[in-house]
Amino acid sequence: MMDKPDYLAESLKNKSNLKVLNNAVALRSISHAYLFSGSNTDLLADLALKFAATVNCKDDGCGSCRICLNTLKGIYENILIIEAEGAEITIDKIRQLQRFMATSAHPGGRKICIIKEAELMNQTSANSLLKVLEEPPGIDSMFILLVESSSLVLPTISSRCIVFEWDFKDSGSPFAGAADTAKKYLFDLIDAGIKEILMPGSNYASAAGLSLRITDFFKQQLSLQDDNSSRQIEKLKGAGATSSELKKFEDALKSAARRREKKYYNLGMQFVFDIITAWLSDIVAVIARAGPEALNYPANFGFIKKNAVSIKVEKLIDITEVVEKNRSYLKFSIYEEIAIDNIFLKLRKALEQN
Ligand SMILES: [Zn+2]
Repeated sequence: MMDKPDYLAESLKNKSNLKVLNNAVALRSISHAYLFSGSNTDLLADLALKFAATVNCKDDGCGSCRICLNTLKGIYENILIIEAEGAEITIDKIRQLQRFMATSAHPGGRKICIIKEAELMNQTSANSLLKVLEEPPGIDSMFILLVESSSLVLPTISSRCIVFEWDFKDSGSPFAGAADTAKKYLFDLIDAGIKEILMPGSNYASAAGLSLRITDFFKQQLSLQDDNSSRQIEKLKGAGATSSELKKFEDALKSAARRREKKYYNLGMQFVFDIITAWLSDIVAVIARAGPEALNYPANFGFIKKNAVSIKVEKLIDITEVVEKNRSYLKFSIYEEIAIDNIFLKLRKALEQN
């Protein structure tokens, strides 16, 4: 059952994931909580169902018995799939999960709960799921959380799960996949912007300008997706939908767009923070006389040596802490614009105080 599905990319990561999961089933040493991360929600859900079938099937996932077939359809009695309603996974959904898990499993199987887009849990839901994970309702219970990026759920939750990152052949998100043009664009933007801030003669406008360019980039990415929604509405109009049907459809699209917006924004900001911390640790490394090969971005070695080695290391550590603090707030905050603005200003100021 857990042979490599054709939507998985050829990668060492995927190969080792499948091996570890198949071994766990063969040895009957299955954990009670897993976290699958990857750029495509639907494919993650398919993987989770395949794994669930393999766990419950008498024949390690034959693919043809009633347990396998019904699990793959998501209708097996020992399976519960939790999904967001609107823009978030509310506490009601977690209560539903608790009720489901509290009843005993259908003979001979494990009760398996799959949480799609677990990053959409609000703070209350996340806290009550955490309690469930801390004290699992029974030895036969199992959770599979699905997220676009494991950094989008609370560390207290992910630390209680066995985490598997999956590589899909094509990515559904503008920030997924290393070769993605949006990601490359954002990287170049930030790389050039940080250099501008660190250049002699730069001023506060360079710092403010960079955070503005980043936010503009996000807005532009999201408006591309909005265009897609309005095209869908036009299509439905053309097909003769009634106005109440159109209204319903429009509401559903809006709520899906809000979810996507939140998710992409968070993923994008994680990526922005990653680049900033990599830059900061490169500067610290060069100050500590590391060579280019020790850097995250070796090409920046010469630039850092020339322009940034006079910055005090403790200032750089301070800024790194600010970045990490903002990263942990990301799930619940909408103040990222102010956060990055503040981070770049601090970097500019650190340079000035020497
Ligand atoms: Zn089977």
